[in-house]
Amino acid sequence: METRKQTALAVLDSQHPFHQAFIMKLFAILVSLVALAIGADASCRGDCRIQCNPYNIPGACSNECVGRCMAARCPDETGLIGIFFQESIVIVGAGIIGLDVALVLAERGFGRYITVYAEYLPGDTAVSYTSPWAGCNFSAISGSDANALRWDRAGYTHLTKLAAQDSKQSFVQKTPSIELWDDAIPREKIKAMSEYLEDFRILPDQELPPGVKFGVSFTSVTLHGPKHLVYLCNKLKHNYGVRFVRKKLDSIRDAFANPATKVVFNCVGNAARTLPGVEDPECFPTRGQVVLTRAPKALSAELRQEEPEILAAFAGLRPSRNGGARVERGEVLVGARGEKRAIVHNYGAGGTGFQAGYGMATEAVDAAEDILRSLRSQGCSRL
Ligand SMILES: Cc1cc2nc3c(=O)[nH]c(=O)nc-3n(C[C@H](O)[C@H](O)[C@H](O)COP(=O)(O)OP(=O)(O)OC[C@H]3O[C@@H](n4cnc5c(N)ncnc54)[C@H](O)[C@@H]3O)c2cc1C
Repeated sequence: METRKQTALAVLDSQHPFHQAFIMKLFAILVSLVALAIGADASCRGDCRIQCNPYNIPGACSNECVGRCMAARCPDETGLIGIFFQESIVIVGAGIIGLDVALVLAERGFGRYITVYAEYLPGDTAVSYTSPWAGCNFSAISGSDANALRWDRAGYTHLTKLAAQDSKQSFVQKTPSIELWDDAIPREKIKAMSEYLEDFRILPDQELPPGVKFGVSFTSVTLHGPKHLVYLCNKLKHNYGVRFVRKKLDSIRDAFANPATKVVFNCVGNAARTLPGVEDPECFPTRGQVVLTRAPKALSAELRQEEPEILAAFAGLRPSRNGGARVERGEVLVGARGEKRAIVHNYGAGGTGFQAGYGMATEAVDAAEDILRSLRSQGCSRL
């Protein structure tokens, strides 16, 4: 079934409009026949007794309804019709940035319409997969520009909520934090942080160590990076029906292989510099290192008084970008006729993907609101 579908889509991409419409019709008939052959309508429950035909959805029935119907009949996620629906929204990349985009979309009701394509998935480690190497916590290291301030604030709100509601499962925990500056105090940032960080306090001079000009304390959020990624992936799969496919794309255009794809979210991290169709020269990797120590007492005290026991040390490459992260809608020309398709770029998070990722994702998804609205109006009444 998978092979037949890919052949049909490859033909669609390269033909004259008339032929394309004709072949589309044939494809629709094929889809209907497959649906009937597997008796999909027989499995619909409640008020959802419809024929599972994605090209001819009766007004009273929703796409969601058809999707549920198909899911019941096609638990194998490679099923033809399942894929057709699930590629309405494609996310390329399964680092924290791609996962946060999937989460925001899923929370808005689009889980069953999302396929995430990624060379590396949560649970993997690779030099070109940054997210599993992150420390990681919420800190003041991010920029002081308006974007960074907004994304940090949204990220902090999201992560503290997660820490309060689901700390054990999500591997997100509130932790006390002290940050010290010996120079270049980011006043704008401190002002913004003082408005939303829990327990925020400017340290009086007598509490500052020698040589330090300025310091703040606040309640931060600390994450177990690799485990948080796995948590998100499982939640997206099992609670929201998001589909994950391991695949390395040769070009961002490959993400549009299915004509049903309405929008692609480009969350490829460091690959944004070289991936054909993106090739952003402002992107560059920045090395970061994490040292894992056993510190049953407060780490700073340990470091001052005795040599801590080092359990592991590793380095990763942060996806940095001149001018800050790019969260922006654009167009990609696809196929022999150069058809315009919508893409939302979301990469270049540097050293702040975990703390800013949810805020970036919210704005990336907002940038595609008109497309999502049209997906809704195609009958997804429960969205
Ligand atoms: C040592 C270290 C410490 C850090 N500490 C913190 C911290 O304390 N707080 C914080 O907020 N952030 C921290 N960061 C930064 C954070 O880790 C990054 O900002 C974040 O991981 C970037 O995520 P990403 O999803 O953009 O990229 P990645 O995690 O690299 O994900 C990219 C995804 O795209 C996929 N991909 C790429 N090319 C293709 C292709 N051609 N086809 C298919 N898939 C493709 C990859 O397989 C992967 O799934 C730290 C980073 C490091 C290295």
